[in-house]
Amino acid sequence: MLQGQTALITGGSRGIGREIVLKLLHNGASVYYIDLSPGESLEEYQQLAEQHGATVVYKEGNVADEPTITAVVEEIISEVDGIDILINNAGITRDGLIFRMSSKDWNDVLNINLNSAFYISKVVANHMIKRRAGSIINIASIVGVIGNAGQTNYSASKAGMIGLTKSLAREVAGRNVRVNAVAPGFIDTVMTQKLNEEQRKALTQQIPMGRIGEPEEVAKVVLFLASDLASYLTGQVIHITGGMGM
Ligand code: NAP
Repeated sequence: MLQGQTALITGGSRGIGREIVLKLLHNGASVYYIDLSPGESLEEYQQLAEQHGATVVYKEGNVADEPTITAVVEEIISEVDGIDILINNAGITRDGLIFRMSSKDWNDVLNINLNSAFYISKVVANHMIKRRAGSIINIASIVGVIGNAGQTNYSASKAGMIGLTKSLAREVAGRNVRVNAVAPGFIDTVMTQKLNEEQRKALTQQIPMGRIGEPEEVAKVVLFLASDLASYLTGQVIHITGGMGM
């Protein structure tokens, strides 16, 4: 589906990012992933890439550090014919009620989850409009739409991501660059494995489909948005929540 295309993803070493890397490689795309460390999947990625006539490259970078991340993204652009797909996925949580939230926890979440998407999209969207092609996918969250007590920083960052998605979509649509977001609900990764059994049970009761989602279920929608199947789709936010927040 994506043979000959190149994708760039942040936070590709584990969780949802890992499933997206696997999905892209399975479908023939070459992948650059930026993360704080390569993680434990690089060898698996390389084997899969080889099977599909593609390549996978890890680049170290903190997405919240503008000069570093800009240099890393520019270096990647200089190494490839073009970037066809960008996925802004890296993200963290630093939960707590606002009364107890430190400015550091507020700023870290905003910097890593939202500012990073500004730094990277700025460089990549400019590259894509010159090529008159591209698909940018931002990993937001349902809590950026409906809010969540204890996550003012996180939900603000994800609501900001949705605003960035829609405004950038309008800026670049005329140059055949599409910009969309996905808003996952509760997905089974390290991020949500921090929750205790009682919290997981309470959350599951709020999900009409009655279960927590799998990272691959997010990756499948990202693949659709990256591909030509979504050729007339831009500025949209697709909820992947098992019906929560509909
Ligand atoms: P995860 O398992 O914690 O993975 C996050 C990834 O981002 C990790 O690879 C992490 O690297 C990387 N990362 C964190 N800070 C970084 C930084 N400063 N620079 C570069 N990379 C950094 O989380 P996940 O659940 O897969 O989440 C992926 C995305 O989905 C996030 O944007 C999250 O907000 C969103 N999301 C998740 C859920 C959910 O229920 N899990 C729901 C809605 C939205 P390290 O491994 O080195 O820390």
